[in-house]
Amino acid sequence: MPITNKYGLSTPWIRIAEQNLYDKVGWRSATELVGPVRLAMLRDRHREHIEVDVCDMSHAILGEAVHTLLERAGDDAITEQRFIIDVMGKEVSMKPDRFEPEAEHLRDFKTAKVWAYVLGTKDEWVRQTNIYAHGLRQHGHTVSEISIELLIKDWDYKGPLGQTTIPKNEYPESPIIRIPVDVWLDADVEDYLRDRVMLFMDLEDTPDNELPICTMEERWGRPDKWAVKKKGGKRALSGGANFETEQDALDFAVTKNHPCDIEFRPGKSTRCEHFCDAKMFCNYYLNHINPAF
Ligand code: SF4
Repeated sequence: MPITNKYGLSTPWIRIAEQNLYDKVGWRSATELVGPVRLAMLRDRHREHIEVDVCDMSHAILGEAVHTLLERAGDDAITEQRFIIDVMGKEVSMKPDRFEPEAEHLRDFKTAKVWAYVLGTKDEWVRQTNIYAHGLRQHGHTVSEISIELLIKDWDYKGPLGQTTIPKNEYPESPIIRIPVDVWLDADVEDYLRDRVMLFMDLEDTPDNELPICTMEERWGRPDKWAVKKKGGKRALSGGANFETEQDALDFAVTKNHPCDIEFRPGKSTRCEHFCDAKMFCNYYLNHINPAF
């Protein structure tokens, strides 16, 4: 992937960005396998033509910086060590952040925005860390606990005030939180890995436009919603903000003893819009998310 430097930043930024992009070993990484297959395929096929500006990699660079600092803890933990396992004859690589052999505890460090936390990329994290645990077991370790330590970049002590669409009870309590992860049985990880490897292999020759569309979860999506407001009012009525169909909103409106407006609130696909570097090669993005292109 060619890296551009539109704002004339100094070379260290470019080097960090390059390291982040080209750290690929084996057939596929655990991170790729748990992510959207369409995105991984498009990235591979169009790698030479996907231009990324160093500024657009600020999130990845920040994540890398946090990892590097945490790696310096200087204790007996195994940090950032590469493991490769064989799944159906394919090399799957992984680099767990931190494994404490004595405590049998695997920890993964992540940086994300509040929205990523609230929207639930967590399932992807659960699958990824359980593959790491499987890889560690394959190399003779015992893993009995997994947790994710998440640094939330845009956390605000005032809570979700500026982000009114985030329910107060879903807002994280502090800027760094620990999320315990369910430890899967090894047989379940093996089944999951086999399914993913087979899916990726089966789709290797599928044309771009016929690759399965990334799911709502993979797109970090929010579905369309309808809200009910008092006629002429600005805010949704209590209990009237989150209807999944227009009919549900209409049914709610007729229970009120005053005229109402129904407001359509279009959904979002945050990953497609802001974090997918292959989007210009994705017919779903071009036709549905940003048809202006
Ligand atoms: S633009 Fe969206 S649907 Fe297309 S590959 Fe990227 S994440 Fe998937």
